[in-house]
Amino acid sequence: MQRTVGRDNPFEKEIRSCLNKEGLRFRIHYPLPGLKRTSCDIAFPGLTTAIFLDGCFWHSCPDHPPAVKKNADFWLAKLKRNRERDERTTRALTDSGWLVLRFWQHENTDSIVQAIMSAVSARRSSLLSRSKSLDNV
Ligand SMILES: [Zn+2]
Repeated sequence: MQRTVGRDNPFEKEIRSCLNKEGLRFRIHYPLPGLKRTSCDIAFPGLTTAIFLDGCFWHSCPDHPPAVKKNADFWLAKLKRNRERDERTTRALTDSGWLVLRFWQHENTDSIVQAIMSAVSARRSSLLSRSKSLDNV
């Protein structure tokens, strides 16, 4: 069983270092507004964009079903709670206007980085055009 819970696992570190190299500035382990004890792995607060880098085990990746033998009931119940919490978090953020991106640990690093970069730049230009149109009011 791969324990990737907790902070700063290799998956997060790698994505963060790639984003740094691309010159993006972001916050890590950012506490989410209105959500108690919930943070996202990478945040662009100015762009109200939250990125979650989900470990396959802890977040129940459909491609990698958990192989738990001991205490299976306990683990399955725990993973189910994690999954439900993820869904609640995504919904709450989306409802309050955040852009939420979730990636699986097994996904290709380059594709994740590209996806984040294009989402961030799209977000930036849409916010920019919104503020311009407000200027014209
Ligand atoms: Zn997976």
